[in-house]
Amino acid sequence: MEFGDRKAKAEKMFGLMDGFLKNDSISLQKDILDHVEFTVARSRFNFDDFEAYQALAHSVRDRLIERWHDTHLHFKKKDPKRIYFLSLEFLMGRSLTNSVINLGIQDQYADALTQLGFDFEVLAEQEGDAALGNGGLARLAACQMDSLATLDYPAWGYGLRYQYGLFRQIIVDGFQHEQPDFWLNFGNPWEIERVHVSYPVKFYGTVKEEVLNGKKCKIWIPGESVEAVAYDNPIPGYGTRNAINLRLWAAKPSDQYDMESYTTGDYINAIVNRQKAETISNVLYPDDRSYQGKELRLKQQYFFVSASLQDIIRRFKDLHSNFDEFPDKVALQINDTHPSISIAEVMRVLVDEENLNWSKAWGIACSIFSVTIHAVQPEGLEKIPVDLLGSVLPRHLEIIYEINHRLMEELKKSFGQDYDRLSRMSIVEEGAVKSIRMANLSLACCHTVNGVSRVHLETLKTRVFKDFYELWPQKFQCKTNGVTQRRWIVVSNPSLCSIISKWLGTEAWIRNIDLIAGLREYAKDPDLHTEWKNMKRVNKMRLAEYIETLTSVKVSLDAMFDVQIKRIHAYKRQLLNILGIIHRYDCIKNMDESDKRRVVPRVCIIGGKAAPGYEVAKKIIKLCHAVADKVNNDPDVGDLLKVVFIPDYNVSVAELVIPGSDLSQHLSTAGHEASGTGCMKFLMNGCLLLATADGSAVEIAEEIGAANMFLFGAKVDEVPALREKGTTLKGSLQFARVVRMVRDGYFGFKDYFKSLCDTVEDGGDFYLLGYDFASYLEAQAAADRAFVDQVKWTQMSILSTAGSGKFSSDRTIEEYAQQSWGIEPCKCPF
Ligand code: PLP
Repeated sequence: MEFGDRKAKAEKMFGLMDGFLKNDSISLQKDILDHVEFTVARSRFNFDDFEAYQALAHSVRDRLIERWHDTHLHFKKKDPKRIYFLSLEFLMGRSLTNSVINLGIQDQYADALTQLGFDFEVLAEQEGDAALGNGGLARLAACQMDSLATLDYPAWGYGLRYQYGLFRQIIVDGFQHEQPDFWLNFGNPWEIERVHVSYPVKFYGTVKEEVLNGKKCKIWIPGESVEAVAYDNPIPGYGTRNAINLRLWAAKPSDQYDMESYTTGDYINAIVNRQKAETISNVLYPDDRSYQGKELRLKQQYFFVSASLQDIIRRFKDLHSNFDEFPDKVALQINDTHPSISIAEVMRVLVDEENLNWSKAWGIACSIFSVTIHAVQPEGLEKIPVDLLGSVLPRHLEIIYEINHRLMEELKKSFGQDYDRLSRMSIVEEGAVKSIRMANLSLACCHTVNGVSRVHLETLKTRVFKDFYELWPQKFQCKTNGVTQRRWIVVSNPSLCSIISKWLGTEAWIRNIDLIAGLREYAKDPDLHTEWKNMKRVNKMRLAEYIETLTSVKVSLDAMFDVQIKRIHAYKRQLLNILGIIHRYDCIKNMDESDKRRVVPRVCIIGGKAAPGYEVAKKIIKLCHAVADKVNNDPDVGDLLKVVFIPDYNVSVAELVIPGSDLSQHLSTAGHEASGTGCMKFLMNGCLLLATADGSAVEIAEEIGAANMFLFGAKVDEVPALREKGTTLKGSLQFARVVRMVRDGYFGFKDYFKSLCDTVEDGGDFYLLGYDFASYLEAQAAADRAFVDQVKWTQMSILSTAGSGKFSSDRTIEEYAQQSWGIEPCKCPF
């Protein structure tokens, strides 16, 4: 049957049906029970919570797919310019609650489940996290997908479908152990396997020069081929019918290169070799700041980039035949430099396969790519050894050399014989290990280079990419990060969501976050204060129960819940926090009873994963437990101080912890945190921030007023001079005392902690803990004073939420859309 006939028949059939899936309680109950019976294959009279969750998830998925189909048909019809967001990591967390909220059918589902004898929230707890990312960069990608869908932008996300997400952290005797995250073990109802959407991705081999039609050209003869199979994850927008697609690629064996082994009878080896292909998408690298030029990592990068570009070009070619139109239809966003091999791949496809001449192809590449850099130090930028790149992707290495050659020629016109500058700007780094600087490749090509906060952009302009900024100042833009209020208020803090909607008299802020500033008007209203405090107490109660279940530590709800949750890093200075806790403990120990009555009780909560090979970070985790052991069991201290380490920090844990926090700490040495997005989530949830003037905290202070947070520490521009002073720089006496307590074995494990103490003493202290300690303690004291005055505290808390509007990813995405990508909304009609 011809396609036209089939379409006509389908349209007729659709006319006979009732249209969209129904969302009344009876229809939802029927759908859930049908899925129990036909998808989960259990009796509809006998199924447990997990099976109920699976059936529920499948019924939500049906509704997602419905909108997702409509959206893609609509995009196809309108053929707008699309944004393709390439990211090696997406930290999506759970999908159920977010999906039903964005689809606008949460109440109906809650009701349907009650009728069936289930509780929506209990079933939601059955879902595991999709943790295909390390931290900020990956969660940012997830927030941005939510905003792209909500704002009706024609967007696609592309990434890797890792079999194992970020490792699970378990704690044994206070030490971190890593366990694999088998997240796909029980299936994943949120994805759709697209076996028919697959592309071969090639590696290794050689490059030959040939003459074709009288023209010299390069032919890459690859040595290995792996199949990339698409798994689609619909992302629903809020308050719109649009649902966009996050397409993740899984590696599967390809038959092409194995046939010979089969025919020569080497059957077993042929099968084993086929299995090896799958390792490409096996596991996420668990290090969020440094990349060591590993072959597998390069293969992961190229694998997802190549498949994505084949998909994008196929879609373009469905409707267009002239690549002159490519920049009118395609914008490619590179999330950090990880996908920047895509620049060489676009050049390879356009020149080698589409036969465009180099200048035309380069013109196209330069008008479609933009990059967001997340690094703050030149040392943090990714480099790939030339030998490795030349072996895995020989043709790409040649292309990069050619791009570099032309770049150098252009630079000579501007900078003459300034060879130092030319070598700094070169894509090829000469040295002991000759390497390709992926950031320089991105800078040479991308029309826009984005920093993720104003301070960070300054760092890029004045330090990391100074030479490039002097040449191309117009490329550099600030796109301060944001987070989605749908996930971080509506899903994770429903009581706060109701309060905001009630006091603003509208739910419109969920799509238009600027309205949240309207809360400022009521910041002193005693009725709002009562509701606000009740909300916080209920959230603290939930968190306290969670803490007790995990750690057996009972905490008082009257205490200030003081939280630092994020990846463990020397620069994020969890150690400063712990040393501050030791100081507090030491003070309490030396107080008489009347002084103790004036102490503000605290529950100090720390959570975060250390990269498996990161010794200092692992010692910090152990120190936290050692201090907790001592403090929590000291009868002199009681409820005045409790220390808790929450294991296995991930998105779902964040959703529980953030709403229950009073104070949150962001302690990076100024100049080391590009933006930070954790702080924005706390801000939205009315937690007060204790922070250095680093990353986005500077802009937060502008929005809510510095008086509404507790800022401390050296400023970005003071840090280099302080470091210069080096060994002569002494921390305070208090600092020396707390470090000495650790050194002397007051918390046990004397030998084990010695090297950790060395990092902040004896002229080490690269991250200036000693220098910042005194002002850190002052900021902590200011937080105590503010907490005693609960009226003041609540007012500051309301003003924090009210001032959080700028830090919505909706604002970030609007800026990208207008200033970088040049795309327009494409709204699917209801
Ligand atoms: N990890 C998870 C699970 C998160 O939800 C976030 C939040 O943004 C981060 C890491 C990043 O936190 P931060 O910006 O505080 O480092």
